[in-house]
Amino acid sequence: MWSLKNRDMQVLKFGGSSVGSEKAIGSVVEIVTQSLQNKPSIVVVSAMHGVTDQLLMLAQTAAQGNEAYKTIIENIEQKHLDIVRTLLPIQQQSSTLSIVKQLINEIEANCEGLFMLKELSPRMKDKIVCYGELLSSKIIAATFAAKGINQQWVDARELIKTDSNFLNAVVDKELTYKTIQDYFKNPANAFDLYIAPGFISSDKEGNTTTLGRGGSDYTGAIFAAALEADRLEIWTDVSGMMTADPRIVQNAKEIPQISYQEAMELSHFGAKVIYPPTIQPMLAKQIPIWIKNTFAPNDCGTLINSSIPDNENVVRGLSRIEKISLLSLEGSGMVGISGISMRLFGALSKEKINVILI
Ligand code: ADP
Ligand code: ASP
Ligand code: MG
Repeated sequence: MWSLKNRDMQVLKFGGSSVGSEKAIGSVVEIVTQSLQNKPSIVVVSAMHGVTDQLLMLAQTAAQGNEAYKTIIENIEQKHLDIVRTLLPIQQQSSTLSIVKQLINEIEANCEGLFMLKELSPRMKDKIVCYGELLSSKIIAATFAAKGINQQWVDARELIKTDSNFLNAVVDKELTYKTIQDYFKNPANAFDLYIAPGFISSDKEGNTTTLGRGGSDYTGAIFAAALEADRLEIWTDVSGMMTADPRIVQNAKEIPQISYQEAMELSHFGAKVIYPPTIQPMLAKQIPIWIKNTFAPNDCGTLINSSIPDNENVVRGLSRIEKISLLSLEGSGMVGISGISMRLFGALSKEKINVILI
């Protein structure tokens, strides 16, 4: 049985808006510095706000043979160069600026290929979209290094192993947990702080894969589960899981505590604040999840654990999903014929259609 014992960990994941500006990253630094006083931490970061969408648009534009892709690369480059210049002291900027330029060159080379071939496979999408998290995590790691924190950038692609279902890869948990444990057991990798890109992983052949949109939460959970961390903190732009989507329902309220089961249902059925696959590994290892607000770190947030709080309100929360089809299959030809359900679900599965409710 794996045990960290004297190296208890905590995992903190910061979403796109939490790393979207100089001010937000300033808050991230404060939050992480505070938490390092308790124990070593793994910080998982998303791409800067909007960058994942920009990269997907970039890939599509290049593959359409549209020269406008070059402007998109320039915009992405400028955004990251600007943030490096505002975050880091002048004397420490040059190495990070050249890392950003190097990564942008790689994006450019990939896009030139797409422009020539005019073909965009899911594999190529993953190859390009991973740069959002690579850029943000490298910049954040440099920010902590500039503060003199004993930190290490960790390539999540080397530790999180998946199948080759590009854009929505399935994690090989056994292999991944072992790879992560081996990495952290190695005395050469003993640091106070680890910075890892969320969302990205790789398959057995070493191709870059991704864990589905919103997947950085899941990266945090995978690290936390593999290392049996003390807690997983999801830092975002709202003060916890709420009774409804605050963008739609103005008087939605924060839920101070919720069970894994209820949180899983709310997120599965549309509460975007946490990516649904995140919860299962935490439930399996009984690791509490905290959802906290980067922009209001003193707000209480939501604790997700196994206790079921007294529910005076009967309904814990409401959520909604868009773009759902209700399929009703009926007809006399089905009566008394065995194997109909198997054929129906088999056909849906073959087309990779996810059935969310039966
Ligand atoms: P991040 O980039 O930090 O991962 P997300 O955009 O994925 O953040 O998730 C946070 C957003 O989820 C909030 O800004 C909020 O609008 C939305 N949201 C939807 N449903 C809920 C809910 N029930 N509780 C809280 N936030 C919700
Ligand atoms: N950057 C990825 C996305 O926008 C992953 C994440 O933010 O969790 O989907
Ligand atoms: Mg998210």
